[in-house]
Amino acid sequence: MLESVYFRFLFVLFPTFGIRMKALVFHGKEKISYENAPKPKIGTQEVLMKIKSVGICGTDLHIYKGGMKVPRNAIIGHEFSGIVAAVGKNVTNVRVGEHVVGEHVVTCDKCFYCLTGKPELCAKAEVIGLHRPGALAEYLAIPADLVYRFPKTISFDEAALIEPLSIAVYAVKEAGFLLNKRAAVVGQGPIGLLVDQILSAAGALVTGIDVRDNTLAFAKKKGWIRHVIDAKKDNVEKRVREITPDKYDIVYEVVGTEATAETSFEIARRNGSVYLLGVFSSPARINMMNIVKKELRVFGSWTCANTFPEAIELVAREKVDLKSLITHRFKAQDGAQAFIDASSYTENRIKTIINF
Ligand SMILES: [Zn+2]
Ligand SMILES: [Zn+2]
Repeated sequence: MLESVYFRFLFVLFPTFGIRMKALVFHGKEKISYENAPKPKIGTQEVLMKIKSVGICGTDLHIYKGGMKVPRNAIIGHEFSGIVAAVGKNVTNVRVGEHVVGEHVVTCDKCFYCLTGKPELCAKAEVIGLHRPGALAEYLAIPADLVYRFPKTISFDEAALIEPLSIAVYAVKEAGFLLNKRAAVVGQGPIGLLVDQILSAAGALVTGIDVRDNTLAFAKKKGWIRHVIDAKKDNVEKRVREITPDKYDIVYEVVGTEATAETSFEIARRNGSVYLLGVFSSPARINMMNIVKKELRVFGSWTCANTFPEAIELVAREKVDLKSLITHRFKAQDGAQAFIDASSYTENRIKTIINF
């Protein structure tokens, strides 16, 4: 009796208690506001995550600027960490209270790609934070098989970057044996810096290429890259000749522009490999004869599959430094400002985190 009176009292005080939550809701081009939203309900195979940290990614900024179609009043955000708040009755892989991260591609598990080990290419893929409600909210409902526990030695902010790290791990893993391989990473944004770190950890000799000298200097100081090419100041061709006369065994393109794609094919050695990770917003015209005559091996790399456990282990074993990538933090209430801030160019920005 007393209990029910107390609960009624709570509902009078907090009418949203239990069924609503706070979220950053996207209302169209450059409009995001911190407001009430329905708290998600979970199915028998789902986990309810209490969100702690969310990373803002290039895709989120692209959506924010009106560059991608999302449902009305969408909640975006797909790089997240949190605590298990509740589990559906058939969930056995995680328990309430555990610290977890989640993958963001919900697959059908039935199509050709799902059945042949390429779930990232699922014909019916639905992306959390794009087609489904995302993580910029107090709570997120997510299929249990996408959820992974991480040790408490890793902070929630770092854990929010497990998703971009998984993308980098996936792309580097494709390249096979890397010891003493000459590798170039064209683009030193967050993913590029993670690709640098994994390549170096695997024994490759990495050159970082970008037009931002401060980012290049930072990566060099951290020991993530061995050589620097400043594409704004240096003659790229000449610098490559100085560093590795036979050009690069492996090149990663992590920008997504015509010029950086062209550079990537140019600086790869004959029969070398080029991995394309950049998200191109328009078609690029490139010299195809560079690929034909050099017998280049060219690969596309899209999101990730089955690399979350490996990414978590790399961070737990301190093989990768995520902490240094976090340059800006905002409280959820200030989320609108976080997007304004993250979309303006600032010299020292790498990664922005929003905390719930
Ligand atoms: Zn992303
Ligand atoms: Zn599928």
